[in-house]
Amino acid sequence: MRKGCQMIVRITLEIALGKEFDYEVPSELEERIALGSRVKVPFGTRQLMGVVTALPATSSFPVLKPIIDVVGQGSLVTPKVLDLARWMAAYYCCPIEIALKSVLPVAVRRDREGWKKQLHIRAVEPTGQVPALTERQAALRSILQQWKELPLQEFLKLTRSTAATAKKLEDAGVALICREVMERDPHAHEHILPSEPLALNQEQARAHAAILAAMNQKEVQQKPNVFLLHGVTGSGKTEVYLQAIDHALSQGRGAIVLVPEISLTPQTVERFKARFAVGKRATLVAVLHSHLSDGERHDEWHKIREGRARIVIGARSAVFAPVDPLGLIIVDEEHEHSYKQEEAPRYHARDVAVVRAQKEGAVVVLGSATPSMETYHHAKGGKYHLLEMLSRADDKSLPWVRVMDMRGEGRHDKGIPILSQQLKEAIDQRLEKREQTMLFLNRRGYASSLQCPQCGYVAGCPQCSLSLTYHRRQQRLRCHLCGHDERAPICCPVDTCRSAEIRFAGVGTERVEDTLARLYPTASIRRMDSDTLKKKEDYKRILTEFRQGKVDILIGTQMIAKGLHFPNVTLVGIIYADLSLHIPDFRAGERTFQLITQVAGRAGRGEVEGDVYVQSFTPFHPAIQYARRHDYVGFYEQEWEFREQTSYPPALRLALVTLRGRQEAKLKLSADHLRQAIEGATQDIQGFSLAGPAPAPLERAENHYRYQILMRAQRMSRLSARLAGVMDSMRLPQGVKVSIDIDPVNLY
Ligand code: ADP
Ligand code: ZN
Ligand code: ZN
Repeated sequence: MRKGCQMIVRITLEIALGKEFDYEVPSELEERIALGSRVKVPFGTRQLMGVVTALPATSSFPVLKPIIDVVGQGSLVTPKVLDLARWMAAYYCCPIEIALKSVLPVAVRRDREGWKKQLHIRAVEPTGQVPALTERQAALRSILQQWKELPLQEFLKLTRSTAATAKKLEDAGVALICREVMERDPHAHEHILPSEPLALNQEQARAHAAILAAMNQKEVQQKPNVFLLHGVTGSGKTEVYLQAIDHALSQGRGAIVLVPEISLTPQTVERFKARFAVGKRATLVAVLHSHLSDGERHDEWHKIREGRARIVIGARSAVFAPVDPLGLIIVDEEHEHSYKQEEAPRYHARDVAVVRAQKEGAVVVLGSATPSMETYHHAKGGKYHLLEMLSRADDKSLPWVRVMDMRGEGRHDKGIPILSQQLKEAIDQRLEKREQTMLFLNRRGYASSLQCPQCGYVAGCPQCSLSLTYHRRQQRLRCHLCGHDERAPICCPVDTCRSAEIRFAGVGTERVEDTLARLYPTASIRRMDSDTLKKKEDYKRILTEFRQGKVDILIGTQMIAKGLHFPNVTLVGIIYADLSLHIPDFRAGERTFQLITQVAGRAGRGEVEGDVYVQSFTPFHPAIQYARRHDYVGFYEQEWEFREQTSYPPALRLALVTLRGRQEAKLKLSADHLRQAIEGATQDIQGFSLAGPAPAPLERAENHYRYQILMRAQRMSRLSARLAGVMDSMRLPQGVKVSIDIDPVNLY
């Protein structure tokens, strides 16, 4: 039995996964401890950091060790977010510590406080008699009195004095030098003009009213309060977001805006800051993205935790931002795959947003021009509310989309044609009129493979079952999965062949750039992909040049497909629309439809109407044809039939287990065992079926063989629990690793 008055904490440790431990709290620490506090505890012979996950009244252990210390101020996670982490651990089958790691950024978890401190100097009135000051000291004092307080370094620079002089002022009792927390604001030097709310058009007004009505509901809802805002590109979804956020603020609540990492550009952030972060009733807007330094992330996070920043804009993990109370979560481009984290915890930020909002009584708005099949299915079935905005806010018409049949092109030419005759002519016209062109191809490098027509050799990665991509500038062959890098050969490397006729098959952005440079020697051409963006500033620089009209043609990967707004772009070309159709994935058609629609949305955002040219070898594929007609619902309906017939989401739910190991035989045996164990544990689950184990589409990666077991079920939560149980009791041989992916987005 425990003494009744002793406080107990239950904590998780980073090194002991899946377990929680009870400790005693010495009475002098009780005041400082709360759910979510970080604590230092004895563990064996070591001292470790842990997070408080519960405050149980009693413990089943008779003797508890006391915690050593509480680190930092206050609790880091709110109890609500802690609760969310627990849900995530259960649903996505991962240990609670792994879930907590996503919830708390590394920068915040350090065992020391992470504020950057800086010396400040402050003017003070001397107590008692005013000391005798030299003329110089008196002059410095009066400067200081004007400033009241400033960083010491700035003071010294301003007055061209030394630290010793400043110290003398302090000794004289007229100044105080102290350490102050200095916040690192990554956007400190921006100058943003305020924006005013726009008068909403009819479609916007209807959407806005529905969202506000939900936000005004007082009683806790049984069903999640989720809206799908299905609005064509340019329909003015952002204005609806902005006015809904404004309403949250007026209710005294905060908002989280999730944006895909790739769209989290200064342009995007500025639209939110312009409305809320400048002017009279400025609200701090915190930005969380992967380019922040640890220090910046730490500071942004604490601004939110302390309630100073009420609006958070960020990529995937911003869904965990400690906004409290939370009124609204917006998930822009909800169909984007980057919302799914591809390592444990394998969560989907959109789905986490829905669960979090329900727990905290907040409203969710999922926005997209091309909603995911899953979300639209929920909206049709009444689980989510459907809001539609089908015309562009500025009354511009949607761009005219032409599909070029590439099968007829370049038969006389060698290899795959890059530009059709019509696209060439369209570019010519734009160059003449000094309008801009964007060309899109979702594959970087020069050629996707190097082949020998004599013996059939294809250069493959020695560690993965993938062909190597040829990068011509550097004369290298590279694996885009593991980064393997080797010199490109000048003849076939097969000993018995040695043919000098090796060929480069498949087109990448680098090759398109070369072709364009040959065709249009006087045009200014830029390429934007992860090979050309080496530095943080490159992205901004290229886009600025493009916006200023210094660039005629911009060629790029998916980086240029999202959210950018350039009024002078009147032509958009998709070099090879079939590329995403050929991936071995049931979502290939959906991805292709989304991609064409998104890319097409880049055209005609200004005064002149835009044209979109889609080049394809399968021009009559439904994904291409529905995209050409801007017909989302038509696409959804035929795609739904396919998903229903093949039992893929959203008709059923999926869970994917992947096993990895160096020895194939051992791996296969483990996979068979695992299959049996799963079958034994899942017999009573509705609609359950299982396929595999079978080699994954990507059979080998980074020197590991990969096997998969694919499961289907009507509902997921029970299956998650059973899988967790199986994994707990299963002993896998050394060298075999397993990952569980609930609602997987990538099936390779
Ligand atoms: P979406 O996010 O749906 O693609 P945007 O929010 O970027 O669309 O809006 C497209 C353009 O329409 C922007 O330039 C925006 O300023 C303008 N716009 C949006 N709402 C209105 C409105 N009510 N009146 C006038 N212009 C608007
Ligand atoms: Zn050969
Ligand atoms: Zn590789």
